[in-house]
Amino acid sequence: MNTDTKRVVVVTGGSSGIGRAIGLRMAGPGTTVYFNHYDPDDEYAEETVRLVKDAGSSAWGARVDVASRPDVQDFFDKILKDCGRVDVLVNNAGITIDGFLVRMKESDWDRVLAINLKGAFNCMQIAAKHMMKQRSGCIINMASVVGVMGNAGQANYSASKAGLIALTKTAARELAPRGITANAVAPGYIDTAMTADLPEKVKEAMLAQVPLGRIGQPEDVAEVVAFLASDKASYITGQVIHVNGGMYM
Ligand code: NAP
Repeated sequence: MNTDTKRVVVVTGGSSGIGRAIGLRMAGPGTTVYFNHYDPDDEYAEETVRLVKDAGSSAWGARVDVASRPDVQDFFDKILKDCGRVDVLVNNAGITIDGFLVRMKESDWDRVLAINLKGAFNCMQIAAKHMMKQRSGCIINMASVVGVMGNAGQANYSASKAGLIALTKTAARELAPRGITANAVAPGYIDTAMTADLPEKVKEAMLAQVPLGRIGQPEDVAEVVAFLASDKASYITGQVIHVNGGMYM
């Protein structure tokens, strides 16, 4: 068991974009950052491990499908064998498979819900059991502005994020007596691989909805996650914190 670790931070979907920025922001002496990702190409994950280590933390990344309960169980078994605790869980893994409601394939609905919503449930159920024994812990779920507003072409994605918000509030109520907080962060339009390939017209239309007039950076989101995971936020639970440049208010 690694007794040098004072704080264990687990980030799902931590190889790139917002998840990588969170791992980097949370890194520091005494902290071990565990993350997972899904692409069989490990290039981004290896780069994330290197960057987190450079920032002063131990780091470990694994290929895991958060939608698969056995995968998630193995991932947490490794963490608990190494460190015996989970202090912060950030459910950040997420995908989009967009399409209009009337044309959406059932398989596209199922896959998005399986990763974005059931994936978070899988991780929360396992981590929360240990946090309850610890009588401490912090869960942060990556929702989205569209989980509150809805969005044409994203029936599966927006439903998954709305579900994640309800799951967060339920967990906050159930876990508060054991000293565990659960909050959601709802980003707007953020500069990552998820948004990079959108058609230029869609990007322009999204930017036009942002009063602050710029696309958000992964670090804008990571900063809020770091705050929610800190002692300074110990009286905040069951909330949805919007990070969207004013896109929704
Ligand atoms: P991203 O760069 O595409 O990152 C997504 C991460 O999730 C990657 O690490 C990816 O790993 C991982 N992932 C995908 N499927 C997975 C699976 N089945 N199991 C485990 N990990 C998996 O996108 P991002 O923009 O940073 O998104 C991060 C979160 O923010 C998502 O939940 C997203 O819905 C949310 N969000 C993003 C925006 C935005 O504008 N970008 C806005 C609102 C909310 P691989 O690459 O290895 O598959």
